[in-house]
Amino acid sequence: MNFTEFKKLYQKFENIDYSKSGWRTAEYDAFLDAKDDHHHFYEWYLKQELIKENFNTENFCCPVLAYHTFSGKKNENEAIIYQKVDKSFAIPIHDGGPSLIAIRNCPWCGSGLNKK
Ligand SMILES: [Zn+2]
Repeated sequence: MNFTEFKKLYQKFENIDYSKSGWRTAEYDAFLDAKDDHHHFYEWYLKQELIKENFNTENFCCPVLAYHTFSGKKNENEAIIYQKVDKSFAIPIHDGGPSLIAIRNCPWCGSGLNKK
């Protein structure tokens, strides 16, 4: 599957109604496989999802960090959090306590996480 085909399938499946039967097709599975197999497809997909949420990705090193930061605001079990207080990123230790491990580089692309 090429990128153009992937984008077409994204449009086809972006508003899929999972409550109706028959949504799981071979074409849908091929779409998911392509998203997993091609990192730039995956990053493009995440960007589209964040655009829908009006979440600005411009200040992030990559869409993957942006996506996890966005979902970290909603989900306390997320892998990474952004701390507004000192503009830093951290990995929470999910042991019931408040422990965090501060990180200096993006876990997904390796870029330095300069404080902005
Ligand atoms: Zn990154």
